[in-house]
Amino acid sequence: MLLNWTPHGSSRHIARVLFLLALLSGWLTGVPSWAGVVQEVRVQGDRVVVKFDTPVTQASAFMLAGPQRIALDLHGAEPGSDARAGGVVSGIRQGSQGQSGMRIVFDLARPAIVTEGTFGKDGRTLTLQLRTVDDARFARAAAERRMSFLPPLTYLQPSSRHPYSVAMALPRRAPAAPLPKVYGDADRPLVVIDAGHGGHDPGALSPTGDLREKDLTLKVAFAIRDALLKSGRVRVALTREDDRFLILQERYGLARRLKADLFISVHCDSAGNTEASGATVYTLSEVASDKEAARLAGRENKADILAGVDLGVASPDISSILIDLTQRETMNTSASFARLLGREAQPLIPVKANWHRMASLMVLKAPDMPSILFETGYISNARDAEFLASRDGQQRVAQSVRKAVEIHFATRLASR
Ligand code: ZN
Repeated sequence: MLLNWTPHGSSRHIARVLFLLALLSGWLTGVPSWAGVVQEVRVQGDRVVVKFDTPVTQASAFMLAGPQRIALDLHGAEPGSDARAGGVVSGIRQGSQGQSGMRIVFDLARPAIVTEGTFGKDGRTLTLQLRTVDDARFARAAAERRMSFLPPLTYLQPSSRHPYSVAMALPRRAPAAPLPKVYGDADRPLVVIDAGHGGHDPGALSPTGDLREKDLTLKVAFAIRDALLKSGRVRVALTREDDRFLILQERYGLARRLKADLFISVHCDSAGNTEASGATVYTLSEVASDKEAARLAGRENKADILAGVDLGVASPDISSILIDLTQRETMNTSASFARLLGREAQPLIPVKANWHRMASLMVLKAPDMPSILFETGYISNARDAEFLASRDGQQRVAQSVRKAVEIHFATRLASR
């Protein structure tokens, strides 16, 4: 069964053409990548309502059997947090699909199909009409083509908000996340390990796509925690211990609330050149030490932009991180730890020749806590990726950190 989602076929055609033009003009003028963030997913009786903070360009839905689900693909959208199941929908999952958008999967308690999809006038609400059916009807629906829904033309007109010129609209201050568990003996200095990315932000991917930065950083973070605890010289906490999304401010915010003495954000680098290899240690600077460092900062800071963090309110300084004078001492300590870490890592893991670099990295912004970002190797390089995915590789990275941490705190205690 093929359903016609708009009463007038020709207006739908015009809408398609206009969307294509809008997309092209966005690409050609280099408008930064844009995404509306899911604000809310609600099941109301036989309808599902999805709300976004900015208009979404296109949606399509299809039914999947075994188990019975409804999948909703959204172009120009990013997963959000607030989803509540109900009625025939027993569960709601959201996942990023990279550049193209995202998918919401509705798990079904009983077979139900989408019969209609309508966007609100401003392109920020999508309502799906559901109908409960029998298994045979659901199976037929699952065999059919996906259904596409386009938002109305209204918000493409100059008088209303243009979807491709708006990056972030809503101030979205996340509620303070619960403090993570602190491991180790009291009165030892505290090291907070931050596993980069997570949740709907996978970070960089390996060329084959089977390794994701968010998984490697978590495994490496666990290995570092275990190595540090074994040494018994420090306490350790992790900003995340599972696959969850944290904005960059939450990451160093958690560490600051715990009064951490050292903050280590763990990442994997990625480059177009698949030969690029080796670890790098980054510290904060207003000006990037080189082009590659600037690109890296752009990439790593993007996590927040994708999450819809408001540049004007929540973090006025993502694009250009201004450093206050009180940060100088912290920066010097961070830099000496970075040099130390590179030196201690060299015999254990592949390290770049000039391993200490600087960039305006949002996650290193805490003014009073020495912080480094450890790019443990290139996920885009087959050898580095294999190394970082291996237990041996993870333990070698962890031993590098353990050695540097021991020397760092021993030196600081001695100089007091
Ligand atoms: Zn990263």
